[in-house]
Amino acid sequence: MKEITFIEAKELALKLMADHGVGHWNFEWMDTESTGGQCCPTIKVCQWSDERSWKKWHEKFPDAQRELIDGKYVYATPPILKFSRPWIVKYGRDTFVDTVLHEIAHALMYERKIPHKRSHGKEWAELAFSIGVRDKEFGGRWGLREMAYAANRKPKPEPTEADKKLKQKQKKLAHAQKMAKQTATRIKRLQTALKKWERRVRFYSK
Ligand SMILES: [Zn+2]
Repeated sequence: MKEITFIEAKELALKLMADHGVGHWNFEWMDTESTGGQCCPTIKVCQWSDERSWKKWHEKFPDAQRELIDGKYVYATPPILKFSRPWIVKYGRDTFVDTVLHEIAHALMYERKIPHKRSHGKEWAELAFSIGVRDKEFGGRWGLREMAYAANRKPKPEPTEADKKLKQKQKKLAHAQKMAKQTATRIKRLQTALKKWERRVRFYSK
């Protein structure tokens, strides 16, 4: 394992970020052991104009900016890429480079406004591969191999009319079963209540 100092690591990360067009993102260290990196895109909130909410927001995000646009305040946090110091110590230089590229790929998804449902889905995997993220020892966690598989997988065929009908029937059946279960519970409850009343009637009629 090739070691790397924190200073070298930061320099390297900043260079990679600039090379890939996310040089304006902030760099931050974190001390988590379970995650190597984290991508925190800009969070924007608008229409808050009172000072108290701004103060709260500012406490949560010290680097947040406030801008007056069309008479409304827009609060925005800066975009940040965070990297774990314990990971560098544990896994060394090569893994750190992969981690940085992994997070840059996330950042680029936001920068290029690529629509995606899952953060490590097909779109991300394609982008990650294109900038050189490799599947290494931590591949199990990130599952790059599966992502590559997903990226190359043929899309699911459109459901046929028969499939749709079957699905509707299954839905109706599930609903009916649910209702039956509810009714059974209600009947049971009523029976218990009835028994209670019967006991009372017996007690007072003695
Ligand atoms: Zn990720």
